Amino acid sequence: MSILLPRYTFGVGDRFAHQAEAQLKACMMAAERGVEVIPVWNKSNREHTIIGSSPSSVRHAADVAVHKLGWHKPYFCDADHINFETVDRFIGACDFYTIDVADWIGKTVDASLFVAEHPELIGELSIPGVSRTLTTSKEFVAQVAGKYLAAVTEAGRIYRKIETAKGAGNFVTEVSMDETDYPQTPVELLIILVAIADEGIPIQTIAPKFTGRFNKGVDYVGDVAKFTEEFSDDIAAIAFAVANYGLPSTLKLSVHSGSDKFSIYEPIRKKLQKFGAGVHVKTAGTNWLEELIGLAEAGGDGLVMAKEIYADSYAHEEELCKPYATVIDIDPAKLPSPGTVNGWSSEQYVNALRHDQSCPEFNPSLRQLLHVGFKIAAKKGNSYLDLLDEYKSDISRNVTENLFERHIKPLFF
Ligand SMILES: [Zn+2]
Repeated sequence: MSILLPRYTFGVGDRFAHQAEAQLKACMMAAERGVEVIPVWNKSNREHTIIGSSPSSVRHAADVAVHKLGWHKPYFCDADHINFETVDRFIGACDFYTIDVADWIGKTVDASLFVAEHPELIGELSIPGVSRTLTTSKEFVAQVAGKYLAAVTEAGRIYRKIETAKGAGNFVTEVSMDETDYPQTPVELLIILVAIADEGIPIQTIAPKFTGRFNKGVDYVGDVAKFTEEFSDDIAAIAFAVANYGLPSTLKLSVHSGSDKFSIYEPIRKKLQKFGAGVHVKTAGTNWLEELIGLAEAGGDGLVMAKEIYADSYAHEEELCKPYATVIDIDPAKLPSPGTVNGWSSEQYVNALRHDQSCPEFNPSLRQLLHVGFKIAAKKGNSYLDLLDEYKSDISRNVTENLFERHIKPLFF
């Protein structure tokens, strides 16, 4: 029997694999209140490389938390943003694979065969759930297929590599195209899904690039009404692809950099409820910031460490931001000097960092800089990790509350 992904799944995880219990607790609170939100611990190859950790550490942290808290529902470990070259070391530890083929988008290939095999995609498309009639031309389908077919072919090559190692049905497959320059429209998404079905990939989640900006750790930036319409049409395109092209019935959207996008959570929840659809929301990045908040809130050595991490991040801004250039927007003029921050109380530090937009001291630029600053904490080694143990209760309280109150509740309740 194949592993099927439950309706609501929630990407969790943290840079230093210390908060698995606090994250799972948020899912347990949802379950106690009648909503099943299944945790998927993820950590990308990029983050493993920056920190120097291995996929087995994520699996270990998840297993320990599940055992300790007595979680009897499913849970997963996601090899996030892997490709053909980087997937190997995730084979043992993971049962969910986010196949990243964004780099293959736009490597133009001849799509005439695809177009010939899919005359039904040309002309007026009536997709249940989409209020407008969508009209496509042969040239349009050829152009879209030409742009994405190389990426889909590569996804197939990576999928089969994993399938050979793990066996069909023993893992969940996601295809991600989010880290690219241009969003995909719902019609493009449908054409991509048809190509994925042709390629024989039993995809259960797809991560398109949505309209607007999904910056790390801060709110959505863009036209919420436009996003809402696109999200709704994407759900309809997925249902249509499932019904007509034999893709798994569990197929759903995956929202990457999904933490902290407070202004679109209500529209997402309403559309999911309207269509009875599922979703996967990746939120792992937000947890490291709650660690910092917990340390700062605790005061003492914790606050000293939080200030040191800010000062070092400030000094290494360019280097830290580089790998995340497409997913952060920092205004350097809004970054306080390390000298200023060193004079802050616990409350001032927490107010600047915690994602509470109603707080006048909240500083999104500082928050984004610290978001990419985990490399600084990684370099501190045990002097950082020991503090996570010392201030465990302050930190886990913040991790759980942030996930449950600010994420799970508005998204799923
Ligand atoms: Zn992503």
